[in-house]
Amino acid sequence: MSFSLLSAVKGLVLRFQTIQFTVESTIDLPLQDEVVFSSLSEMGHEQVMFCSDPETGLKAIIAIHNTQLGPSLGGLRMWQYVSDLDALTDALRLSRGMSFKASISGLNLGGGKAVIIGNSRTQKSEILMRRFGRFVHNLNGKYITAEDVGTSTQDMTYIRMETPHVTGIPEISGGSGDPSPVTAYGTLLGIKASLKKLTGNESLSGKKVLVQGTGNVGSHLIEMLVKENASVLVSDIYEEKLKEISNKFPVQVVDTETVYDQDCDIYAPCALGATLNPDTLTRLKCSIIAGAANNQLRHEKTDALIIRRRGILYAPDFVINAGGLINVYTELNGYNKDKAYAQAEGIYTTTLKIFEEAEKRNLTTSETAIQLATERIAQIGRLKSYL
Ligand code: NAD
Repeated sequence: MSFSLLSAVKGLVLRFQTIQFTVESTIDLPLQDEVVFSSLSEMGHEQVMFCSDPETGLKAIIAIHNTQLGPSLGGLRMWQYVSDLDALTDALRLSRGMSFKASISGLNLGGGKAVIIGNSRTQKSEILMRRFGRFVHNLNGKYITAEDVGTSTQDMTYIRMETPHVTGIPEISGGSGDPSPVTAYGTLLGIKASLKKLTGNESLSGKKVLVQGTGNVGSHLIEMLVKENASVLVSDIYEEKLKEISNKFPVQVVDTETVYDQDCDIYAPCALGATLNPDTLTRLKCSIIAGAANNQLRHEKTDALIIRRRGILYAPDFVINAGGLINVYTELNGYNKDKAYAQAEGIYTTTLKIFEEAEKRNLTTSETAIQLATERIAQIGRLKSYL
């Protein structure tokens, strides 16, 4: 999100506070609420729903970005945000990314995302998830939820008790299960396509890959990279996760403080977003950035330009982490694992196409991917207007 937009969203939250005060005191009418809608229209959002239930402690935001291609689908993140504004910003950025992800992957889905404000390790409960499910149900299928950081297939099972508009339920219950293995597979293909573009050879043998975040996706990616004979460096904020991964695979653990200073061929961000910013980009010593984390660029345009200027090849996050979305999309029409993996194979060619198109358009790879995704949304949107 651009700085101006972030300020606008800050304004949005301040405006909400002002609205409450103004309504109660019945002064200053009509309300000056242009800031709210101008912020949403600048990013292109259709709807944002704030869900509050003091009884269960639920505080959630559901952001629906665009439904031109189909119902919005995107995971539910549970995170202890520093502020409500951070949660809103995250929901807005993530849902917009989902629209691009679905579009670039050729899916008939729109972009949406939900966040629950809270600690997933200590505050999660059946009732909290079911209450969230009721809110999702109220949207009548305009938003379909799934797993993301801090949520699991078990949580989706609870949500399923309240609404059919949920994916990523366990395979045993007829769902597609945990999407992260397919996400990791797609990310691996994105890494290979990047190598192919840069070196003419997609082999990972002997390549140094730094995986930041050894969670659901990161751990599967690490396993795949080790199988491909890559030399794998790992980093996580939780000691127990690093112990678990080091016990399973021959990896080198890297301190979170020095993670951006490591000599490596490929940096694969698989934790949270915004790790690509002016501070880190001057330190990175890799030739490729390709990972699964959403919203890796803190400043969408300027950070992508820094990456290009530094001669680093960037595989746009929403292109190469689409495996999980493809997996849950398959679930909507009766899950078929082979079909999901076959469709995820397309990530390799899509990534190469974006690299080529970026050269033709003289744009960054990130801007190119956004343009291609936006073009498809506009084209299909026009098609739908025909009788
Ligand atoms: P996860 O919560 O299982 O894993 C995230 C890991 O990152 C955790 O182990 C956490 O401890 C670690 N972490 C957090 N901050 C860190 C930091 N500063 N340095 C190092 N490690 C840190 O989540 P996940 O499902 O593996 O998702 C990872 C990323 O991939 C997220 O950005 C998510 O939105 C994105 N993503 C996930 C999927 C999926 O299928 N799960 C699909 C698409 C995109």
